[in-house]
Amino acid sequence: MASQEQVIEALRKINYPGYSRDIVSFGLVRDITVKNGEVEVLLEITTAQETIPGQIKDAVEKAVLSLEDVTECNVVVSVKSAPEAGTGGADQSAPTPPDQLEGVKHIIAVASGKGGVGKSTFVSNLASAVAMLLKKQGLKGERVGIMDCDIFGPSIPMMMGANGRPNVSDNMIHPMVAHGVKIMSMGFLVDDEQAVIWRGPMVMKAIQQFAHNVEWGELDYMFIDLPPGTGDAQISLTQTLPLDGALIVTTPQAAAYTVARRGAGLFEKVDVDILGVAENMSYLQAADGSKQFIFGSGGGQKVADALDTELLGQIPLDPFVREGGDRGIPQVVADPKGLAGQTFISIAEKIIEAVEID
Ligand code: ADP
Repeated sequence: MASQEQVIEALRKINYPGYSRDIVSFGLVRDITVKNGEVEVLLEITTAQETIPGQIKDAVEKAVLSLEDVTECNVVVSVKSAPEAGTGGADQSAPTPPDQLEGVKHIIAVASGKGGVGKSTFVSNLASAVAMLLKKQGLKGERVGIMDCDIFGPSIPMMMGANGRPNVSDNMIHPMVAHGVKIMSMGFLVDDEQAVIWRGPMVMKAIQQFAHNVEWGELDYMFIDLPPGTGDAQISLTQTLPLDGALIVTTPQAAAYTVARRGAGLFEKVDVDILGVAENMSYLQAADGSKQFIFGSGGGQKVADALDTELLGQIPLDPFVREGGDRGIPQVVADPKGLAGQTFISIAEKIIEAVEID
């Protein structure tokens, strides 16, 4: 006899139309009852697209009826209409409708267990590298975005060299553009001192506005710079945004391991795939090519092993990486052939490959 768990497992195999993420992890399944081979599934979908509820309903019926001993399946879909862009009135308790970021193909969160490991440096270099690679493939225009959700210490504007205030028209904010990347950050809107007094609900509201009231246009990749840590704010964020996967940034020392592991636990909880681990500040390379492991070694590999994922690369400790960040020119742009630049580019290639195959 089919159990509730078996029904959930079957539903986990159904992806939201157009996404590589399933309907269970998106939080669309509200209730399942199983009685004498009769299954009832209650779904709640927030969408403005008329065809989506029917598509999901059909897929759910098919999946459930294929389970052993299921004789009947009744699927009830409750559809909430998506809030109009510009109202900013998203229901905070409901999962954000995934189809609201319609033009964005892949959304990847970048997280770290704690601050100072180079997460924002990584995001700015990675996004610039992906933009360069897509341009090389002949794709025109800006196809990559960064949504800087590190509300309390937004360093992306400085690291990308994007300054000033974004334009607003028809209630939509136009992202700033630098190094071929569209950028939105709280750093454009408030001063540093103001951001510190922000509270959870305000942060959530801001992020929802970043998702829905910013004119992102058509993007192949959007990278989300998450606030460091593993608290409620990060959990809500990962539920608000329709993520394809997550990257973990860590440093090599042993202490970083536990922290990064905790950060990854966050994504396991919300059922988001971990695409890989990037180890930053791995070593200092001397002129003769010898490496000095200032912060120890092995942390990144250990985190990757524990998460059953890949160590995507080891970024050297390089004063030019820091200087580039301070000057607003990511190292992949300043010196794409150098060791750090090459490492970022190779990680970017691996991520593109991982996401495209999925
Ligand atoms: P986080 O976003 O994790 O808080 P940042 O990206 O702000 O970390 O990096 C913290 C500091 O370390 C910054 O000054 C940055 O320039 C520097 N940094 C990051 N990665 C490297 C690196 N590989 N080599 C040298 N300095 C780095």
